[in-house]
This record gives sequence, structure tokens and C-alpha cells, in this order.
Amino acid sequence: MKQSELLVSGRYLITMDDDNRVLEQGALLVRDAMIVDVGPVAELARRYPDADKVHEEHGLIMPGLVNVHTHAAMSCFRGLADDLPLMQWLQEYIFPREAKLTGDMVYVSTLLSICEMIRSGTTAFADMYLFAVDVARAAAQSGMRAWLGEALYDFPSPCYGELDNGFACMEALFERYQDHELIQISMTPHAVYTCSPSLLERVRDMAGAHGAIIQIHLAETEDEVVTCLERYGKRPVAHLDGLGLLDERLVAAHCVYLTDDEIALLARRGVKIAHCQESNMKLASGTAPAVKMLQAGLCLGIGTDGSASNNDVDMFGEMATVAKAHKVARMDPTAMDAATTVRAATMGGAGCLGMADTLGSLAVGKQADLIVLDLHQPHLTPVYNPVSHLVYAVRGSDVVHSMVAGRWLMRERKILTLDEEAIMAEMRELARQIMAM
Ligand SMILES: [Zn+2]
Repeated sequence: MKQSELLVSGRYLITMDDDNRVLEQGALLVRDAMIVDVGPVAELARRYPDADKVHEEHGLIMPGLVNVHTHAAMSCFRGLADDLPLMQWLQEYIFPREAKLTGDMVYVSTLLSICEMIRSGTTAFADMYLFAVDVARAAAQSGMRAWLGEALYDFPSPCYGELDNGFACMEALFERYQDHELIQISMTPHAVYTCSPSLLERVRDMAGAHGAIIQIHLAETEDEVVTCLERYGKRPVAHLDGLGLLDERLVAAHCVYLTDDEIALLARRGVKIAHCQESNMKLASGTAPAVKMLQAGLCLGIGTDGSASNNDVDMFGEMATVAKAHKVARMDPTAMDAATTVRAATMGGAGCLGMADTLGSLAVGKQADLIVLDLHQPHLTPVYNPVSHLVYAVRGSDVVHSMVAGRWLMRERKILTLDEEAIMAEMRELARQIMAM
């Protein structure tokens, strides 16, 4: 039997391939979950006359964005408390409420965040949170790609209680999702200041046994560096290196406080960086040396962090901030140009997750994870350079279609896999409970 084929075409096709090709009147052919051809629409239409066709006259087709660091379920705390120092915000507002979270609350909150991610162009995300089994349940239902794990730390968790149960919980997740096409389980120790050396060694061994990536917050604040020096006599990067965690499977979020030597060490070890500029700005943590990290050859992706410290998961908004923040921080308008920023949000993210051969660009042999934007709007007219628009003019709400592994998740801004109205209604109800906590 002939396999189903779909020809997707539009005014621009941004490939993000090795040659950074941008095709005008470009098209790609999707067969099952894969991209099997890329080229001019006239040519592909001739070559595949029987394929189903989706043509957007004013459409821009590009790889789906990869959000390499978030806590999706924190959407339930969006706007609950802002404009506070990190520790006061955490201790007075977030931690007391997180202690009372349930799996169902995490499930609904993750679904809400996923709706927002699909609507704003994200097709894959890396998550760290409590009740990961419910994060996975939500992700599986949505059809998005996700890398996720149970947040591990020394103190008792509202999800699993004592730490041993947390590792048991992780084993169960590995077992349950070992053959899932879209969900990958990763180890997610919270940070060096909340995880003992023995916890981190156990994480390292379990990740090794399962060939999983490890996500951790690293060198986020100056306080973290001071605490780590006091406790272990080493800065966070050296501390993790001593424990054998620095390798190509580690995705380190934030990395704001790094010396040049630490950047060089992370590059030698092949560590991946999740750059979360808006969160670092909102909590006044600082600006990560992203330009230096890229110059050192580090693989750098972009993450929104959770919706309580951003306060959204819109990767287009994040890209605009990343590009501008580094220009002003370095007083150099050429820093973090548009092409570099889009590459970080696509191929960079894929590389962070060990998926550079599978995701991140629109090329033959890769998974059909793509989005289509509508350029037929005042704020996107005229178009001299479509890549410039992606960073400096596009908004998440310009995304009209979204596809993961050859399956449409959104068409004409309607999410096909989830009931958005019901999810928003449940969140409004949930917010009343959270206010009363
Ligand atoms: Zn985070």
C-alpha cells in the first residue's frame, strides 16, 4: 500500500540546514513522520503529483522551536507574585504552594503550558518538575515531544516524599516510556545547592545506565557560587566536574556565573547549555556569557524557564530578548545576530537534547517537526529578510499551523489534540484553590 504523502509549501522555507538555505516558494514532502524531500514548490509538485497539499501563499515554514528548559506546570503560578528577590519569592509564595500540589494540578497546569507552547511555535520541550508522571501524561496526550524527569533534591518532595522513592519513581518512568516515540525520560536533579554529592553521583549512575540526559540548574546566581564554595570549597562547575557529571549528556540551565576557564572546561567536556535570558532578567540574576560560550564552541539552546519567572513560554518573545540583551550587555549591535539566535532556538536545542541528527532543521531524513507562520500582517510587511523577522518582528501568535512527527497538532490556530477551553476553565478553578493556600 502506498504511504500517505503531504506536500507543505509556502512563500518562504527556512531550512536551518548546514548551508542555512532559505527557499522562496519552497516546499517539503512529509512521508509518515519524516521529511523525504525539500526544494522549490514547482519541482516537488511535479515529482509528487499524488501527494496531499497544504500551500500557504503568505506562509513561512520553519523547524519547530525547541524549548530546552522549562517547568511547564508552573503556569499555575503565573503572575501570583512578581517583582521580588528570588529567595523571598520562592520561600513566601512558591515553595509553600508547591508543597500542596497534587498530580492532577500538575497535569492541568502542564496541559495549559503545552497549549501555549503549541500556539507560539514550540514543538519540543525539556521539563523538570514534581509529579513527572503527570507531566508525561499531559505531554503524551498533546502529541508534543518532551524530555522530562522528576525533580530530585535532598529535602522531602510533595510528590514522592523521601529521596529513595524519587529514584524509584524515576525507574518507573524509564520503564514506562522506554519505547515511546515522543517522550524521553531524563534525570533532573534540581541544583548543586539543593542536591548532595551522593544524590548527584546516584543521578550520574542512573543516567549512564539508561543512556539518559541530565538536566540541572547551574551557576544561576552569585549566591549559588558562594554557597557552593562555602560547602565544598569549589565553584559549581568544578564541583560537578569532581563528581563526574560534566559530559555531553549534561544540559546545564542558566550558567550565568562562569569564568573564562569554566567556559573552556564546559566546552572540553561537551556540556550543553540551556540559556534562559528572560528568567535571568526578571529575577535580576544577571546575563549569561552566551556570546563567549558560542565562541568557545559550546552547544547552546534557548529555554523560557517556568511561567512563574518569565511569565510566558513564548520562544519568539524569548528570541527577541536574547538577541537584544546581549547587544546591550556588550554594547555591540552585532552580537547575537538574528541568524545565530534562530539557530540556537532550533538546531541548538536539538543538539542540547542529543537530537542534532533527528530534529532542529528541515532536511531530508529528519523528523517532520515544523511550524507555519502567517506573514500577511502589517507588522510583518514588507519582508527583506525573513530570518530578521523571526527574531525582531514575529510574535508567537503569528504561528498558524504546527506539526510534530508528521502529525498536525494545530491547524489555523486551532489545537487539534487538546481541549483548550476546558483546560482554561480548569485552570481558573485551580487558581481559586491556589489563592486560598
Ligand atoms: Zn528552571
